[in-house]
Amino acid sequence: MDMGLRGKVALVSAASKGLGKAAALALAREGVNVAICARNEAALAATEQEIRQATGVDVLAVTADVTKPEDIASFVSTAAAHFGRIDILVTNAGGPPSGTFDMFSDADWQAAFNLTLLSVVRLIRATLPHLRKAGGGRIVNIASASVKQPIEGLLFSNSLRPGIIGLAKTLSFELAKDNILINNVAPGYHDTDRIKELDAARAAREGRPVADVAGDNVRSIPLGRRGDPAELAALIVFLCSRHAGFMTGVTIQVDGGANRGIM
Ligand code: NAP
Repeated sequence: MDMGLRGKVALVSAASKGLGKAAALALAREGVNVAICARNEAALAATEQEIRQATGVDVLAVTADVTKPEDIASFVSTAAAHFGRIDILVTNAGGPPSGTFDMFSDADWQAAFNLTLLSVVRLIRATLPHLRKAGGGRIVNIASASVKQPIEGLLFSNSLRPGIIGLAKTLSFELAKDNILINNVAPGYHDTDRIKELDAARAAREGRPVADVAGDNVRSIPLGRRGDPAELAALIVFLCSRHAGFMTGVTIQVDGGANRGIM
Protein backbone atom coordinates (compact mmCIF):
# COMPACT_ATOMS: atom_id res chain seq x y z
CA MET A 1 0.00 0.00 0.00
CA ASP A 2 1.43 3.40 -0.97
CA MET A 3 1.31 5.56 2.15
CA GLY A 4 1.93 8.76 0.18
CA LEU A 5 4.69 9.74 2.59
CA ARG A 6 7.81 9.72 0.40
CA GLY A 7 9.81 12.96 0.70
CA LYS A 8 7.92 14.25 3.73
CA VAL A 9 9.69 15.37 6.91
CA ALA A 10 8.89 14.07 10.39
CA LEU A 11 10.10 15.02 13.85
CA VAL A 12 10.07 12.21 16.41
CA SER A 13 11.03 13.16 19.96
CA ALA A 14 12.60 10.76 22.48
CA ALA A 15 13.61 8.42 19.68
CA SER A 16 17.04 6.88 20.37
CA LYS A 17 15.38 3.61 21.42
CA GLY A 18 12.08 1.94 22.17
CA LEU A 19 8.78 3.19 20.75
CA GLY A 20 10.12 6.53 19.46
CA LYS A 21 12.94 4.84 17.55
CA ALA A 22 10.51 2.31 16.08
CA ALA A 23 8.25 5.16 14.90
CA ALA A 24 11.17 7.02 13.30
CA LEU A 25 12.43 3.85 11.58
CA ALA A 26 9.00 2.91 10.27
CA LEU A 27 8.44 6.41 8.85
CA ALA A 28 11.92 6.34 7.31
CA ARG A 29 11.09 3.00 5.64
CA GLU A 30 8.24 4.87 3.89
CA GLY A 31 10.72 7.42 2.53
CA VAL A 32 10.16 10.07 5.21
CA ASN A 33 13.20 12.16 6.22
CA VAL A 34 13.34 12.16 10.01
CA ALA A 35 14.69 14.32 12.81
CA ILE A 36 15.09 12.53 16.13
CA CYS A 37 16.07 13.70 19.59
CA ALA A 38 17.03 12.23 22.96
CA ARG A 39 19.39 13.22 25.80
CA ASN A 40 22.22 10.71 25.43
CA GLU A 41 24.29 11.85 22.46
CA ALA A 42 26.09 8.55 21.76
CA ALA A 43 22.94 6.41 21.75
CA LEU A 44 21.18 8.99 19.57
CA ALA A 45 24.07 9.07 17.07
CA ALA A 46 24.02 5.25 16.84
CA THR A 47 20.29 5.31 16.09
CA GLU A 48 20.74 8.09 13.54
CA GLN A 49 23.30 5.97 11.70
CA GLU A 50 21.21 2.81 11.98
CA ILE A 51 18.11 4.45 10.47
CA ARG A 52 20.11 6.11 7.69
CA GLN A 53 21.84 2.83 6.76
CA ALA A 54 18.61 0.83 6.87
CA THR A 55 16.54 3.26 4.78
CA GLY A 56 18.75 5.72 2.89
CA VAL A 57 16.66 8.73 3.97
CA ASP A 58 18.10 11.91 5.46
CA VAL A 59 18.26 11.53 9.25
CA LEU A 60 19.05 14.41 11.59
CA ALA A 61 19.86 13.81 15.26
CA VAL A 62 19.61 16.69 17.75
CA THR A 63 20.56 16.14 21.37
CA ALA A 64 17.66 17.52 23.38
CA ASP A 65 15.89 17.01 26.69
CA VAL A 66 12.14 17.46 26.20
CA THR A 67 11.75 18.75 29.76
CA LYS A 68 13.72 21.88 28.69
CA PRO A 69 11.84 24.46 26.60
CA GLU A 70 15.06 25.75 25.02
CA ASP A 71 15.98 22.21 23.88
CA ILE A 72 12.57 21.73 22.27
CA ALA A 73 12.93 25.08 20.49
CA SER A 74 16.36 24.13 19.19
CA PHE A 75 15.22 20.62 18.12
CA VAL A 76 12.40 22.05 16.03
CA SER A 77 14.28 25.04 14.60
CA THR A 78 17.37 22.95 13.72
CA ALA A 79 15.18 20.39 11.93
CA ALA A 80 13.21 23.09 10.07
CA ALA A 81 16.44 24.79 8.95
CA HIS A 82 18.00 21.48 7.86
CA PHE A 83 15.02 20.10 5.92
CA GLY A 84 13.30 23.35 4.93
CA ARG A 85 9.88 22.05 6.02
CA ILE A 86 8.09 19.90 8.60
CA ASP A 87 5.05 17.76 7.76
CA ILE A 88 4.73 15.40 10.71
CA LEU A 89 5.29 15.54 14.47
CA VAL A 90 5.36 12.41 16.62
CA THR A 91 5.52 13.38 20.28
CA ASN A 92 7.11 11.01 22.75
CA ALA A 93 8.99 11.34 26.05
CA GLY A 94 10.57 9.08 28.62
CA GLY A 95 8.12 7.54 31.05
CA PRO A 96 7.52 9.22 34.42
CA PRO A 97 8.55 7.31 37.56
CA SER A 98 6.29 4.52 38.75
CA GLY A 99 4.96 4.43 42.31
CA THR A 100 1.99 5.07 44.56
CA PHE A 101 0.46 8.27 45.93
CA ASP A 102 2.35 8.46 49.24
CA MET A 103 5.71 8.33 47.50
CA PHE A 104 5.52 11.67 45.69
CA SER A 105 5.95 15.35 46.60
CA ASP A 106 4.71 18.45 44.76
CA ALA A 107 8.14 18.69 43.12
CA ASP A 108 7.75 15.13 41.80
CA TRP A 109 4.31 15.99 40.41
CA GLN A 110 5.66 19.12 38.77
CA ALA A 111 8.55 17.22 37.18
CA ALA A 112 6.18 14.55 35.89
CA PHE A 113 3.83 17.21 34.48
CA ASN A 114 6.76 18.89 32.75
CA LEU A 115 7.92 15.60 31.20
CA THR A 116 4.61 13.99 30.31
CA LEU A 117 2.19 16.79 29.37
CA LEU A 118 4.02 20.12 29.05
CA SER A 119 6.61 18.59 26.68
CA VAL A 120 3.77 17.68 24.30
CA VAL A 121 2.31 21.20 24.52
CA ARG A 122 5.72 22.73 23.81
CA LEU A 123 6.56 20.37 20.93
CA ILE A 124 3.24 21.08 19.27
CA ARG A 125 3.51 24.84 19.82
CA ALA A 126 7.01 24.97 18.30
CA THR A 127 6.06 22.79 15.31
CA LEU A 128 2.69 24.31 14.39
CA PRO A 129 4.02 27.29 12.40
CA HIS A 130 5.98 24.86 10.20
CA LEU A 131 2.99 22.56 9.65
CA ARG A 132 0.86 25.57 8.75
CA LYS A 133 3.53 26.80 6.36
CA ALA A 134 3.56 23.36 4.70
CA GLY A 135 -0.19 23.67 4.13
CA GLY A 136 -1.12 21.05 6.72
CA GLY A 137 0.29 18.06 8.52
CA ARG A 138 -0.09 15.31 11.04
CA ILE A 139 0.55 15.08 14.76
CA VAL A 140 0.60 11.74 16.53
CA ASN A 141 1.09 11.62 20.29
CA ILE A 142 2.48 8.47 21.87
CA ALA A 143 0.45 8.25 25.09
CA SER A 144 -0.31 5.01 26.94
CA ALA A 145 -3.00 2.40 27.44
CA SER A 146 -3.36 4.07 30.86
CA VAL A 147 -5.53 6.77 29.22
CA LYS A 148 -8.26 4.16 28.70
CA GLN A 149 -7.70 1.96 31.74
CA PRO A 150 -5.50 3.09 34.65
CA ILE A 151 -2.50 0.85 35.36
CA GLU A 152 -1.70 -0.05 38.97
CA GLY A 153 1.50 1.63 40.18
CA LEU A 154 1.59 4.18 37.36
CA LEU A 155 0.06 7.12 39.20
CA PHE A 156 1.65 9.83 37.03
CA SER A 157 0.82 8.12 33.77
CA ASN A 158 -2.78 7.53 34.87
CA SER A 159 -3.18 11.14 36.05
CA LEU A 160 -1.28 13.16 33.46
CA ARG A 161 -1.55 11.29 30.18
CA PRO A 162 -5.31 11.78 29.91
CA GLY A 163 -4.36 15.46 29.59
CA ILE A 164 -2.68 14.62 26.26
CA ILE A 165 -5.97 13.16 25.06
CA GLY A 166 -7.93 16.25 26.09
CA LEU A 167 -5.33 18.47 24.48
CA ALA A 168 -5.40 16.53 21.21
CA LYS A 169 -9.19 16.43 21.07
CA THR A 170 -9.35 20.19 21.58
CA LEU A 171 -6.66 20.78 18.98
CA SER A 172 -8.44 18.52 16.50
CA PHE A 173 -11.22 21.18 16.40
CA GLU A 174 -8.86 24.15 16.37
CA LEU A 175 -6.44 22.82 13.75
CA ALA A 176 -8.87 21.27 11.27
CA LYS A 177 -9.11 24.55 9.36
CA ASP A 178 -5.32 24.37 8.86
CA ASN A 179 -5.53 20.81 7.51
CA ILE A 180 -3.61 19.58 10.55
CA LEU A 181 -4.87 16.24 11.86
CA ILE A 182 -3.96 15.13 15.38
CA ASN A 183 -4.41 11.68 16.90
CA ASN A 184 -3.07 9.61 19.78
CA VAL A 185 -1.78 6.07 20.06
CA ALA A 186 -2.19 4.28 23.37
CA PRO A 187 0.40 1.51 23.68
CA GLY A 188 -0.12 -1.38 26.03
CA TYR A 189 2.92 -3.39 27.05
CA HIS A 190 5.66 -3.45 24.42
CA ASP A 191 9.14 -4.94 24.71
CA THR A 192 11.36 -1.96 25.51
CA ASP A 193 13.80 -0.94 28.24
CA ARG A 194 11.03 1.07 29.92
CA ILE A 195 9.03 -2.10 30.50
CA LYS A 196 12.07 -3.88 31.93
CA GLU A 197 12.54 -0.94 34.33
CA LEU A 198 8.87 -1.05 35.37
CA ASP A 199 9.08 -4.81 36.01
CA ALA A 200 12.20 -4.30 38.13
CA ALA A 201 10.63 -1.43 40.12
CA ARG A 202 7.47 -3.43 40.82
CA ALA A 203 9.47 -6.50 41.80
CA ALA A 204 11.45 -4.38 44.26
CA ARG A 205 8.27 -2.78 45.71
CA GLU A 206 6.58 -6.14 46.17
CA GLY A 207 9.68 -8.16 47.14
CA ARG A 208 9.14 -10.63 44.28
CA PRO A 209 11.41 -11.98 41.52
CA VAL A 210 11.36 -9.89 38.34
CA ALA A 211 10.47 -13.00 36.27
CA ASP A 212 7.26 -13.46 38.33
CA VAL A 213 6.20 -9.85 37.78
CA ALA A 214 6.95 -10.10 34.05
CA GLY A 215 5.03 -13.39 33.85
CA ASP A 216 1.94 -11.83 35.54
CA ASN A 217 2.16 -8.97 33.08
CA VAL A 218 2.23 -11.20 30.02
CA ARG A 219 -0.65 -13.33 31.39
CA SER A 220 -2.77 -10.15 31.62
CA ILE A 221 -2.54 -9.78 27.82
CA PRO A 222 -5.06 -11.93 25.89
CA LEU A 223 -2.63 -12.39 22.98
CA GLY A 224 -0.17 -13.85 25.50
CA ARG A 225 2.82 -11.69 24.63
CA ARG A 226 4.11 -8.17 24.73
CA GLY A 227 4.05 -6.05 21.61
CA ASP A 228 6.92 -5.46 19.25
CA PRO A 229 7.54 -1.67 19.02
CA ALA A 230 7.27 -2.07 15.22
CA GLU A 231 3.60 -3.02 15.71
CA LEU A 232 2.86 0.33 17.35
CA ALA A 233 4.95 2.11 14.73
CA ALA A 234 2.83 0.59 11.94
CA LEU A 235 -0.22 2.38 13.34
CA ILE A 236 1.69 5.64 13.63
CA VAL A 237 2.70 5.38 9.96
CA PHE A 238 -0.92 4.74 8.99
CA LEU A 239 -2.12 7.78 10.98
CA CYS A 240 0.46 9.92 9.16
CA SER A 241 -0.48 8.50 5.76
CA ARG A 242 -2.92 9.71 3.13
CA HIS A 243 -5.18 6.78 4.05
CA ALA A 244 -5.97 8.39 7.42
CA GLY A 245 -7.06 11.68 5.87
CA PHE A 246 -10.50 11.63 7.53
CA MET A 247 -9.28 10.77 11.05
CA THR A 248 -8.59 13.38 13.69
CA GLY A 249 -9.06 13.57 17.45
CA VAL A 250 -9.02 9.81 18.02
CA THR A 251 -7.09 7.60 20.42
CA ILE A 252 -6.30 4.02 19.40
CA GLN A 253 -4.90 1.38 21.72
CA VAL A 254 -2.38 -1.24 20.60
CA ASP A 255 -2.36 -3.62 23.54
CA GLY A 256 -2.82 -7.26 22.56
CA GLY A 257 -6.42 -7.06 23.77
CA ALA A 258 -5.52 -6.08 27.35
CA ASN A 259 -8.10 -3.29 27.64
CA ARG A 260 -11.35 -4.73 29.01
CA GLY A 261 -13.58 -1.81 27.90
CA ILE A 262 -15.90 -2.11 24.93
CA MET A 263 -14.90 1.21 23.32
P1 NAP B 1 12.44 3.57 26.43
O1 NAP B 1 12.70 2.32 25.68
O2 NAP B 1 12.98 3.71 27.80
O3 NAP B 1 12.96 4.79 25.50
C1 NAP B 1 12.80 6.10 25.94
C2 NAP B 1 13.41 7.04 24.92
O4 NAP B 1 13.10 8.36 25.32
C3 NAP B 1 14.92 6.97 24.82
O5 NAP B 1 15.32 7.25 23.50
C4 NAP B 1 15.37 8.07 25.76
O6 NAP B 1 16.67 8.51 25.46
C5 NAP B 1 14.31 9.11 25.46
N1 NAP B 1 14.07 10.08 26.54
C6 NAP B 1 13.79 9.80 27.83
N2 NAP B 1 13.64 10.94 28.51
C7 NAP B 1 13.84 11.96 27.63
C8 NAP B 1 13.85 13.37 27.74
N3 NAP B 1 13.62 13.98 28.92
N4 NAP B 1 14.09 14.09 26.64
C9 NAP B 1 14.35 13.50 25.45
N5 NAP B 1 14.35 12.18 25.29
C10 NAP B 1 14.11 11.41 26.38
O7 NAP B 1 10.87 3.86 26.58
P2 NAP B 1 9.64 3.35 25.67
O8 NAP B 1 9.16 2.06 26.19
O9 NAP B 1 10.00 3.50 24.27
O10 NAP B 1 8.52 4.40 26.09
C11 NAP B 1 8.33 5.63 25.43
C12 NAP B 1 7.14 6.31 26.08
O11 NAP B 1 5.99 5.49 25.92
C13 NAP B 1 7.31 6.50 27.60
O12 NAP B 1 6.67 7.69 27.99
C14 NAP B 1 6.60 5.31 28.16
O13 NAP B 1 6.16 5.51 29.48
C15 NAP B 1 5.44 5.20 27.19
N6 NAP B 1 4.83 3.88 27.16
C16 NAP B 1 5.59 2.77 26.93
C17 NAP B 1 4.97 1.54 26.91
C18 NAP B 1 5.75 0.27 26.66
O14 NAP B 1 5.18 -0.81 26.78
N7 NAP B 1 7.01 0.32 26.32
C19 NAP B 1 3.60 1.43 27.12
C20 NAP B 1 2.87 2.58 27.34
C21 NAP B 1 3.49 3.81 27.34
P3 NAP B 1 17.57 9.31 26.56
O15 NAP B 1 17.43 8.56 27.85
O16 NAP B 1 18.96 9.29 25.99
O17 NAP B 1 17.02 10.69 26.63
